Amino acid sequence: MDVVVIGAGIVGTSAALTLAERGVGVVVLERGSVAGEASGLNAGVIGAGGWGDQPTIDVALNMGSRDRYIDLAQQRGHDIGLDLTGTLTLIRTEEEWRWAEASVKADRQLGRRFELITTEELVGLEPFVDPTLLGAILDPLAVRAEPVKATRAFATEAMSAGAVIKTSSAVTAIRPRTDDRWEVETEAKTQRDVFRADAVIFAAGPWCAELGAMVGVNVPIVAVRGQMWASEPQPLVLRHAIAAAEALRTWDDEDTNNTTPPKLTHRFEHRITRHLYGRQRPNGEFVFGGDRVLTTDRTVDSDGISVNHDHVAELLPGIQNLPPARTWSGLMPFSLDGRPLIGPIPGHQGLFLAGGLASGGFGRGPMTGQLIADLVVGREPEFDITSLTPVDRMV
Ligand SMILES: Cc1cc2nc3c(=O)[nH]c(=O)nc-3n(C[C@H](O)[C@H](O)[C@H](O)COP(=O)(O)OP(=O)(O)OC[C@H]3O[C@@H](n4cnc5c(N)ncnc54)[C@H](O)[C@@H]3O)c2cc1C
Repeated sequence: MDVVVIGAGIVGTSAALTLAERGVGVVVLERGSVAGEASGLNAGVIGAGGWGDQPTIDVALNMGSRDRYIDLAQQRGHDIGLDLTGTLTLIRTEEEWRWAEASVKADRQLGRRFELITTEELVGLEPFVDPTLLGAILDPLAVRAEPVKATRAFATEAMSAGAVIKTSSAVTAIRPRTDDRWEVETEAKTQRDVFRADAVIFAAGPWCAELGAMVGVNVPIVAVRGQMWASEPQPLVLRHAIAAAEALRTWDDEDTNNTTPPKLTHRFEHRITRHLYGRQRPNGEFVFGGDRVLTTDRTVDSDGISVNHDHVAELLPGIQNLPPARTWSGLMPFSLDGRPLIGPIPGHQGLFLAGGLASGGFGRGPMTGQLIADLVVGREPEFDITSLTPVDRMV
């Protein structure tokens, strides 16, 4: 069997590794470079929460991906900057505390490992936080990794297992053949190539919709700009990854409308909430971000950076006089209904979609890649992914 994977982000490289290890011929076609888009531009925060008693597919995507990162670092020997310290979601208001209490209680009833901790416990864990905060949700199993290194490590492992990765190769056409196979055409500089395959996986992040258009399918995934800032390197003072409860609480009450994705910080140009997550990298840089704006425009919004910096300084006062030294943005793949899309593309035998992982795709991509690869080769995926199937969800 031959499979073409389109996109060498975290999903595509992970899928390629599983496919190659299953003995399948696999070619990854990448328009730019490995980890050149969101998979290399993100904050590197990988949520966990524990498997719980009866893991849902959402739990499996997070915890299975976490296991794959740990395997990359600890069994396969890659330096991916893996750090197992955990994440703290900081709570500032009574309203946030009530939300956190209910959310942790619900998770713990399912056997998951989130903990609600008091101010004293929080300051004991992280003296760098504002001591007037009400507490935090501790995700002790959350990990983090360096995005470029980790995505490239998947690519390296995939190539060692036999996959071919072609960078600077933009897919420009996808055509069915009369023998039930597919033909994928690429343009690389002045050269045009055609690849033939039994199956094609769309792992092109927010550009999955462009691939869909090549075969007349509306893929309900849109681009949402995320942006980040980093300080100059500082002495290491922050051990955990940090998030804020503020937007998470608001988003819990949000309805999906299937025309714009849920969990954004802006409605059109207008801010509706503030979000924040980040960490101190091993080189001492503080790296934070959180805005999610529905646009393909990659221009960094400097007002948004300053709102985020102020928000970080409210929670970590030591940041107040530490200005952003550099900023960047990336496009995240948000689905219109807020759920990942993993499975066969209806009406097009041999085409598969693995996308829509939104703002949590670094933490969910490795397992997504594994599950789609198994589906493609006809193996029963380790977890039931039928609730994420694109069938009946294409607009
Ligand atoms: C600023 C920012 C911070 C984030 N922070 C976190 C975080 O801390 N934790 C977390 O879990 N997630 C985070 N995310 C989200 C996460 O990075 C994404 O969800 C994830 O990387 C998506 O992976 P992907 O493989 O689906 O897509 P991508 O990484 O976008 O990869 C898709 C690839 O497809 C290629 N491609 C597109 N079109 C074509 C074509 N026609 N032909 C060939 N190749 C093509 C692209 O060049 C690209 O390399 C963040 C994202 C951003 C932008």
